[in-house]
Amino acid sequence: MNRDVIYAVKGPRLLPEMTSEEVGEALKHTDIILIPVASTEVHGPHLPLAADTIQGTDAVRRIVARLASEGIRVVGGLPIPLGVSMQQMDFPGTISLTPDTMMAVLRDVCNSVIKHGFRRIVLIMSHDGNLGTLYSAAEEISKQPGVRVLLINWLPFLRSKYTEVLKSKSGGHGGEGETARVLASIPELVRLDRAQVGPEEGGTGPKLEADVSVHFGGGTFDPARGLRDKTPIGSFGDPRGATAEIGEKCYAIIEDWACEVIRRHFAL
Ligand SMILES: [Zn+2]
Repeated sequence: MNRDVIYAVKGPRLLPEMTSEEVGEALKHTDIILIPVASTEVHGPHLPLAADTIQGTDAVRRIVARLASEGIRVVGGLPIPLGVSMQQMDFPGTISLTPDTMMAVLRDVCNSVIKHGFRRIVLIMSHDGNLGTLYSAAEEISKQPGVRVLLINWLPFLRSKYTEVLKSKSGGHGGEGETARVLASIPELVRLDRAQVGPEEGGTGPKLEADVSVHFGGGTFDPARGLRDKTPIGSFGDPRGATAEIGEKCYAIIEDWACEVIRRHFAL
C-alpha cells in the first residue's frame, strides 16, 4: 500500500486541529461552539461511510468562515463521527451507537466544552438518525444555568430547495444531493463510476400529506424496517448527475439558512 496523500482539507480549523492555547484565546472572544453530529454508515456503492461526517464537518467550516466574515466569532467544534445508525447495520462497515450511548457521548462532549467556558452550543445534525437523541440532549444540557443549546436540522429547508438545484427529482440518502456535497468537499472519496440508481425514498405510491419522516419536517417516523429492506444498494434516488457545482449550491443554501438561524436565536 502506498502512502500518497488521499485528499486535502480546506479550513478554517476546527477544535481538534487547534492547540489548547488557541481554544483558550478564542474563548476570550466567544462562548459559541458549533458541533457537527454525524455518522459512519453505508451511503450506497459510491460514497464513503464518512459521507455524513464529511458534510457536517465541511458545513461547519463554511458557517464558521461566513460568520467570521461578518465579524461574528465562533469556534467550530469537534465532529462527532458516530451516530445512531441501527437501520443501516445490514451493510458492512456501518458503526452504530445505541441511543443510550449517543446520549452519553453528547452529554460528555457538551459538559467538557461547558467546563472550558462555552455557554452557547449549536448541535448541527448531519445524520437524520441522530434527531431523537439530539433533541433529548438539547433539552437536558440546556437546563444547566446559563447554558443555551440550539439544535439545527438543515434537511427540511434544504429539501424544499432541491427542485431548484438538483437534476433528479429527489435527493434522498446517498442520492444526488449528498453525492454532490461530498464531491464539493472531498471528490477523491466519491466513486461515481460505481453509482447505481436506487428506489425513490418514501416509495412511489400516492402520498398522504405530512406522512414524511420527522427529520425531513414531516409528521411520522417508522424505524422498524432496516435500510436493506427499502433499498438493496444502501442509497436512494439517482446520484449519477451529481457535480461539485451542485454540491456548492447545496452548501450555500445550508450556510445561508444556518447562519441566519444562529444570528436570530442568539440575537447576534
Ligand atoms: Zn447521509
